[in-house]
Amino acid sequence: MMAGELEELRRWDRECVWHAFTQMAEYNPLIIESARGCTLVDAEGRNFLDGVSSLWCNVHGHRHPRIDAAVREQLDRVAHVTSLGMSNPTTIRLAHRLVQIVPDGLRHVFFSGDGSCSVEVALKMAFQYWRQRSEPRPEKTRFVAFTDAYHGDTLGSASVGGVARFHDLFRPLLFESLRLPAPDGYRFPPNVDRSRLCEYYLGQFEALLAQRHEEIAAVVVEPLVQCAAGMVMHPAGWLRGVRELTRKYGVLLIADEVAVGFGRTGTMFACEQESVSPDFLCLAKGLTGGYLAMSATLTTTEVWNAFRGTYADLKTFFHGHTFGGNPLAAAAALATLDVFEEEATLANVATQSAFLSEQLARLADHPHVGDVRQRGLIAGVELVRDRASRQPYPWSERRGQRVCDEALRHGVWLRPLGNVVVVMPPLSIRQEELCRITQAVERGIAVATAD
Ligand SMILES: *Cc1c(COP(=O)(O)O)cnc(C)c1O
Repeated sequence: MMAGELEELRRWDRECVWHAFTQMAEYNPLIIESARGCTLVDAEGRNFLDGVSSLWCNVHGHRHPRIDAAVREQLDRVAHVTSLGMSNPTTIRLAHRLVQIVPDGLRHVFFSGDGSCSVEVALKMAFQYWRQRSEPRPEKTRFVAFTDAYHGDTLGSASVGGVARFHDLFRPLLFESLRLPAPDGYRFPPNVDRSRLCEYYLGQFEALLAQRHEEIAAVVVEPLVQCAAGMVMHPAGWLRGVRELTRKYGVLLIADEVAVGFGRTGTMFACEQESVSPDFLCLAKGLTGGYLAMSATLTTTEVWNAFRGTYADLKTFFHGHTFGGNPLAAAAALATLDVFEEEATLANVATQSAFLSEQLARLADHPHVGDVRQRGLIAGVELVRDRASRQPYPWSERRGQRVCDEALRHGVWLRPLGNVVVVMPPLSIRQEELCRITQAVERGIAVATAD
């Protein structure tokens, strides 16, 4: 690309494109022109390792020949067919395939376009379910959600969200959820022993359900890892405890696996690790291998049956998105699932996540590293001003961002969550690439914590 042309693109990028979660007054264009495997190539031909999977969605690397071919083949048939009253073979096959691989009992798939909508759909279905099942319970209208939860940015999904700096401003527009603290393995109450963390938080959860289950429609959780919260990792047994208590008190369970689904935590779905089958499973990011916009909300036959009737019964789910179930995205998703089998992707996650934890162990004794936590190929390194008291750096110092700025100079692209440096590479990552990522993180931390 000619220098003048690139300058013009940069100007247009700063002035015409309003970037997500980005302060446009400070935005410095980074224009990626192509990619292959885990490497992004910018318009000047510089290479960067994609250390956070293009925001947690890329699975098998970029331009995977199998997925590229599947999308091209679909393009030769049809690019889009609506899901309003009609269908297409690719989307049908994907729905059937998903039902085969998800936890037991989830038999019906509603497609939409992004993770926020997959949660929005689960919330609305849960609400409507209680109104029109055979023994209606219309007073069950409330949702329980956890501190620092992130379920998306539409008003419904943000209502169950709890990240102060994203959601507080919009509170007047949101419905009110019942909010409980989720167990955090790094910051927990001083009077609670780490080994009792799970019991302590389940006790609080049970107290709420015992008191208010008659008005509660559903509980929304991010299984195992609350990613946007800063890679907050729940203790073993918590998710299963939540499932048991929701059954005991007649409350639906919505599992938001938008970030943790598709192999990220070491199993295809995070719920599997606690033998949990939710009433709703929300999938997005990795569903198409990170190729195209698509999400899915899966649910049980119990829920599905409550919506069946004649048109005049008004039991239809009156909700839909123009591009829900798009066949190009479905083709990418089917190919993604094929690649999981052909390349034994989960085995690579096991190997590489063990290697990643060896590499990250070097950071554990750094005076400004408070915590190094990891589940599969999700890792968070939390920077603190003071290790002993776990005192955080003030958010305005942007220590996490400074680590990432330095990493970029070493050819690794990362994006932090406040003071947490995130390492979340594509599941196809190789050992040599992981070495480069962790070295860049190490150098970044040295520079960003020097003052
Ligand atoms: C990213 C994310 C969402 C929102 O998905 P979008 O596709 O960005 O709308 C919802 N829940 C979780 C857990 C996520 O990580």
